[in-house]
Amino acid sequence: MAKKQYDLIVIGAGGAGSTAATTGASLGKRVALIERDKLGGTCLNYGCDPTKTLLNTANLLYHAQHASTLGLLFPQATVDWAAVQAHVRQVQKTIRGGTLEQARAGIKAQGIDLFMGEAMFTSPHEIRVNNENLRGKRFVIATGTVAFIPEIEGLSDTGYITNEEAVSLPDLPKRLVVIGGGPIGLEFAQMFSRFGVQVVVIERGKQPLPSEDPELAMALCTRLAAEGIRLEFGAEMRCGEINKRGKHIHVQCQDGKEELLVTDELLIAVGRRPALDELNLEAAGVQYTEEGITTNDTLRTNVPHIWAAGDITSEYQFTHVASDQGKLVAHNVFVRKPQTFDDRVIPWVTYTDPELARVGLSEADLKEAKIKYRVGRAYFNKLDRAIANDQTFGSVKLLADADGKLLGGHILGANAGDLIAPVVYAMRFGLTVKMIADAMLPYPTMAEAVRWAAAEF
Ligand SMILES: Cc1cc2nc3c(=O)[nH]c(=O)nc-3n(C[C@H](O)[C@H](O)[C@H](O)COP(=O)(O)OP(=O)(O)OC[C@H]3O[C@@H](n4cnc5c(N)ncnc54)[C@H](O)[C@@H]3O)c2cc1C
Repeated sequence: MAKKQYDLIVIGAGGAGSTAATTGASLGKRVALIERDKLGGTCLNYGCDPTKTLLNTANLLYHAQHASTLGLLFPQATVDWAAVQAHVRQVQKTIRGGTLEQARAGIKAQGIDLFMGEAMFTSPHEIRVNNENLRGKRFVIATGTVAFIPEIEGLSDTGYITNEEAVSLPDLPKRLVVIGGGPIGLEFAQMFSRFGVQVVVIERGKQPLPSEDPELAMALCTRLAAEGIRLEFGAEMRCGEINKRGKHIHVQCQDGKEELLVTDELLIAVGRRPALDELNLEAAGVQYTEEGITTNDTLRTNVPHIWAAGDITSEYQFTHVASDQGKLVAHNVFVRKPQTFDDRVIPWVTYTDPELARVGLSEADLKEAKIKYRVGRAYFNKLDRAIANDQTFGSVKLLADADGKLLGGHILGANAGDLIAPVVYAMRFGLTVKMIADAMLPYPTMAEAVRWAAAEF
């Protein structure tokens, strides 16, 4: 049987792959898109969107239960878990643009041939999916990552969940142990805790959120602990077993003592690993490491007609990076002079309440690079709108060089993920702290904190 031939074959329909495929099709190219699970990838199905929906619902519940200081009493504020889950499914459907079938039809309507199945290279130009062989002139690999499962004695017999199950649990557990205190672990910890689950977080690192400003990260963790989440840093799960009382988690704590935690559910959130086990990259000759697929800065692999985009190749594992890379790579595969991926200004957010947002360099980065910098600070407890909103926790920290050029921004506070936007623009387009301080903002707004931090310089 004649093989189907394509200008571009994209593997993985997450943020990177979907964008690459639609961009390729919009350039008038013959495109195939292969997906083994659900359209939308990790973000829509098991990541950003369901977690943010659940966090929002949990936050509403928590604030309703704690609104008496504002003069409000919600004696009935409680959870209907089945309805919470139905809402998550509805949000996913809306973002997807309909049911899975409608989304598939939408892809096909753009002239893309969609194959639902596991992709496997059989040669540098050929791929097999569902016993069908496809031939491509060029390929984009955008297979993302899956949860990394550490080797711990008794773990599989004890039973555990990852983010995939955690966003759609049929019932709320009474007790939850989270292994991993990174952004994903902390978001789940706060979400479940605010739904009434007793949560313990076990984190091997001694410092919380090592990619963040240590002072702000510590302040956030103090806040989470004050809410009732038990956070154990410098602690490690040694082994586990299950009996009728629950899952038994043996933990070695920072002080060297062993502790037994009995829990109903165990969530593993210790990081991600590249999804390339089934791709058979050897048949295509594509080089990879434990971190993912190796590319140059135009996202090209060592095999000239094969490219990679998104989490599978990026050190920045975020949806905004994946979709920007997907768009760039679809152009790069068809042009003579490919463009490089610009990673100078990449923001990210830990979506706890309060949120922790970051862009650019940290003080530790600047010290290591021996770059002289100054710090501008504004505290939400001094800001009128924050006081009015009862959102006084946290601060804005801007870092700038002697000329006032912004080097980094770090915000801990309500909606910090939105408040970081002006800092991103300023860094991207070279605005100085003086320019930020000189721009009038409406009173009273939370965004004024960014202006006041800039004015500190
Ligand atoms: C719990 C959680 C919360 C997150 N929250 C955020 C957030 O708030 N903001 C943010 O920016 N990022 C967030 N992320 C990260 C974000 O989800 C990823 O950066 C993003 O999904 C990466 O997109 P991608 O296209 O590279 O990979 P993915 O979205 O993982 O898509 C890869 C696709 O490839 C498919 N695939 C893999 N192998 C094959 C194969 N052999 N054949 C066919 N198909 C294959 C997979 O099924 C998958 O659908 C979160 C991640 C997690 C886990």
